[in-house]
Amino acid sequence: MRPSQTTSAVLAVSLVLSTLAATPSWAWGPHGHRIATRVAEARLNPGARRAVSELLLKGDTLVDVSTWADQDGHDAVPGSAPWHYVNVPITANRYEDRYCSKGNCVVAKIKHFRAVLADRSAPLRERRRALLFLIHFVEDVHQPLHVGDNHDRGGNLTQIQFLGNGTNLHRLWDSGLINEIDRNERVWVERIESQLTKENIRAWSRGSVEDWANESLQDAKSAYLFPAGARRPMESGKLLGKDYENFARPILERRLAQAGVRLANELNHIFE
Ligand SMILES: [Zn+2]
Repeated sequence: MRPSQTTSAVLAVSLVLSTLAATPSWAWGPHGHRIATRVAEARLNPGARRAVSELLLKGDTLVDVSTWADQDGHDAVPGSAPWHYVNVPITANRYEDRYCSKGNCVVAKIKHFRAVLADRSAPLRERRRALLFLIHFVEDVHQPLHVGDNHDRGGNLTQIQFLGNGTNLHRLWDSGLINEIDRNERVWVERIESQLTKENIRAWSRGSVEDWANESLQDAKSAYLFPAGARRPMESGKLLGKDYENFARPILERRLAQAGVRLANELNHIFE
């Protein structure tokens, strides 16, 4: 083992120890979900708005329930953890169904819950639950590390430091970067609004769930291969700072904007 490897190995171990208390995460943080849902909410047509409020429990808003799948969904529906992501190797060119083991992945579940929600004959309780899952999963599939994987559970096992704090690559993209850029949800929504041009909306409104996953895969490749042109994907022990934040920021803005637009499209279409 060369000295530089020893150093990084020691650093990796200390990083692992410093973040041992943190459990693996499989979701945009609450902030990411709330931001994307706010974008979507503003774009609902009157029919969808009415249908959504009829399905939700009294007093709940779309923004509030967007984090249900992470907060209560795991207890309410045991076995639902793999539904939040799909592990596609960053060496792959695109998503394929073989990565979606037995249909237990975010791509298949978006299609499933879309169908349940659209089925007017399904029990109200089931359709309500389908709504909560659909909102959440349309957003999750836009988080690059919910799709791209480097044999490290979508970055959960890649222990890094961001601005001096121990974290992992997945968590960094779920919440670390978003919180560092701005903790204020409304500021984020305003920031994203500049992305909502006619051209962008038209372009984003085409395409399938698989296309959304493929976009995340491409963004995940650059998230791992930093700085641009790096030959090998990021490994544990990496120290990241402002330059990583500056690289990630436009990606985050675009993904949250796309998630919001597409979620609104889904609901507008289902409740047409
Ligand atoms: Zn999630």
